[in-house]
Amino acid sequence: MARTAPRAPVRTCVGCRRARDKRALLRIVRTPEGVCVDPEARLPGRGAYLCPDRDCIAAARRRGNSPLRRALRGAGQDETDAALDHLEAIVVHHRVPEGTVRSENA
Ligand SMILES: [Zn+2]
Repeated sequence: MARTAPRAPVRTCVGCRRARDKRALLRIVRTPEGVCVDPEARLPGRGAYLCPDRDCIAAARRRGNSPLRRALRGAGQDETDAALDHLEAIVVHHRVPEGTVRSENA
């Protein structure tokens, strides 16, 4: 019954296990079509969250991606490997979303 002030939703990174503002994290989601990266957190399905940090991605890869696979309720290693590769690429490229016009300095 108690009404609380709206707060930013908090999620736990599957790499470092820290709880953070959901908006500061990148989402991986398990959909009926497979596991994919969902940086804008719009897709329905069981999700897992990671800091935009390569150390956290490396931590999520431990033991055959088991932290991530557990969060996604048994997703396969192949599909979580691919999602982590994609997530790492996003982090390395400073989270430029697909479709964004990149500045060309050539
Ligand atoms: Zn983290």
